[in-house]
Amino acid sequence: MPVMVPSIDRHVFFWGGFSLLEDGFPLVFFFLSAFYYIMEQELQRLAAESSKALESLETVEQLEEFRIRYLGRKGQFSTIMRQLGSVAKEDRPRIGQLANSLKKDLEEAFEIKQAALRAVSAKNGDRPDLTLPGRRPQNGTLHPVTRVMNEACAIFESLGFSVAEGPDVETDYYNFEALNIPAHHPARDMHDTFYVSDSTLLRTHTSPMQARIMTSQQPPLRVIAPGKVYRCDSDITHTPMFHQLEGFLVDRAVSFADLKGVLSVFTEKMFGRKLALRFRPSYFPFTEPSAEVDIACVMCDGGGCRVCKKTGWLEILGAGMIDPEVFTMVGYDAEVYSGFAFGLGIERIAMLKYGISDIRMFYENDLRFLEQF
Ligand SMILES: [Zn+2]
Repeated sequence: MPVMVPSIDRHVFFWGGFSLLEDGFPLVFFFLSAFYYIMEQELQRLAAESSKALESLETVEQLEEFRIRYLGRKGQFSTIMRQLGSVAKEDRPRIGQLANSLKKDLEEAFEIKQAALRAVSAKNGDRPDLTLPGRRPQNGTLHPVTRVMNEACAIFESLGFSVAEGPDVETDYYNFEALNIPAHHPARDMHDTFYVSDSTLLRTHTSPMQARIMTSQQPPLRVIAPGKVYRCDSDITHTPMFHQLEGFLVDRAVSFADLKGVLSVFTEKMFGRKLALRFRPSYFPFTEPSAEVDIACVMCDGGGCRVCKKTGWLEILGAGMIDPEVFTMVGYDAEVYSGFAFGLGIERIAMLKYGISDIRMFYENDLRFLEQF
């Protein structure tokens, strides 16, 4: 049986064949063959194999596998080309030319096939793939100010308050006069008012609802009035439009303790835990006595931080006992009835609740901010 022993030197290839005959005499033959001949054979074989493989491709993914296998840097064409050094010097140009032309043909055929498969794939892409999960429309969420407003209303409603809404464009009478702020009153300077005409304006607070309701209803009253208010003011803690919630309660024998009780429940429910309350004497024309109400800082629990300016307290609302003058103006007997009122800024509460440092973020409509709520 013949045994083939390949041996390679730098320029020529000896292929020695021994044939052992049965009578034991070895028949030894050698033939010399130029290596280029084998390379040429190999290239032709590869060209045939690869074009057949190309024909059978059916998907874009298979195209890439094919490219790597035949045309890539470590592909079969490159591997043969790297052996060019083993060919006799005078044969190299011929082999090189052949290899380049076969590879070029294959590359052209590959591009045509690629375009065809991609076209098919794009066409199929137009058809809905029913196995894919559905595309969910992006749901909006409630604005943080709306959330806090709704939450505040729900807390007061749970305490028996009913909700009243009034006009944003208010008369001078309800915004000021009926609340014990006559034309000459210095408190008018506290409100940088947007006037619509001499007698109408954008309400500077939600307190006009107190006057509107008290002139039309008899006690007992437990009412909150949420809504937008307007002042000429704009910086990191003020915007020209913001939201307030006014609340008042009128009945017989209402005391400051009732006010404190209602506000304690409100702050505890709003911030999710019991917080110390502090009343500081203050002044509002329609309450007497009046107080600014502080809560223990929600950031540091009263220890002192940047948000509370190291005081441990945060001012959250203004409140007081309704001034008997107001009762007299709306026709209630100030000897029989007493009541309290409070007004809080919704943005202020939302800033503290969510740790927001600049009030203007509420109105910039930046989705990166709004999507967090
Ligand atoms: Zn603090």
